[in-house]
Amino acid sequence: MDPSHGCRYSKREIELIALDVLKKEYPNKLSRPIDIDRIVYNHGGVDDIRPIPLLEDKFQVSAILYVKENGKADILVDEDTLDFQHTRASFSIAHEFGHIVLHKEVWSRCKTIEDSIALHRRINRSYKFIEGTANWFAGAILVPFPILGKDVREIYAGLVKIYGFDADLICHKMYSDLAKGYGVSPEAMRIRLSVLDIQKKIESALHYKSPYIGP
Ligand SMILES: [Zn+2]
Repeated sequence: MDPSHGCRYSKREIELIALDVLKKEYPNKLSRPIDIDRIVYNHGGVDDIRPIPLLEDKFQVSAILYVKENGKADILVDEDTLDFQHTRASFSIAHEFGHIVLHKEVWSRCKTIEDSIALHRRINRSYKFIEGTANWFAGAILVPFPILGKDVREIYAGLVKIYGFDADLICHKMYSDLAKGYGVSPEAMRIRLSVLDIQKKIESALHYKSPYIGP
């Protein structure tokens, strides 16, 4: 399928699809960090996650996917990223997995790395909504909103007790503590809190020197 026909999802739809995938792996209780490799390997649309030496040096991407003759996808990840940058590798895997869950038909004709790179460049030029959708999915699956709110409230209450209401310090420590817990980068966590409007609640609580964040 041409990327111009790729399905357009609302943010709410992406959150719900990610939660649906999570529920299959965590039927009783979500626990962090989310094991994205396990989720991907157990998904019927994926065969393998494979390290590729020098993928990023050659093609300027940390991960890419292609679809094999059996109709299943392989997610290819830059070997150094996989070995030495775990949070980045997890996010890249979750992003590519998002393409498989949400737009697999767009990749159906990508049989080689070169096919996928050409498609990736075309999408980045003209169909950025597909990349935006996969990034949102990656955030939603690695940092699920049903458990994030409770963690934010607990960590905030603990931090302000120790450090007071210095907004820069508290935000910095929150991103870093939450990021560690969820196995993502502090920057990915900052973006996730911002797009879910949780950041505003944190800032408001700090502004009013509240010891707690409201629900
Ligand atoms: Zn992508």
